[in-house]
Amino acid sequence: MAERTKSSSSTRRYCPECGGELLYEPETRNLVCTSCGLVYDRYLLMQKRREIREAIAKSLREPSSPELERIKKRREYLQWLMEQ
Ligand SMILES: [Zn+2]
Repeated sequence: MAERTKSSSSTRRYCPECGGELLYEPETRNLVCTSCGLVYDRYLLMQKRREIREAIAKSLREPSSPELERIKKRREYLQWLMEQ
């Protein structure tokens, strides 16, 4: 059963790298991880997105890969991040 409430910008997001909470900084329009301190600006987001896309392509060739679910999750985060 899908317990999906409004899955848009009002929900909390977490760092794809470490799982820490991300805070949006309106001044810089960056997202900052409160846990590892990583700053997500648009350039980094695009880079990460490309990495994940490549990882997905690779894991699709091995459908049983346990990595795949994790990668998919990270991609969802990044898609949300890109919309900010
Ligand atoms: Zn982090």
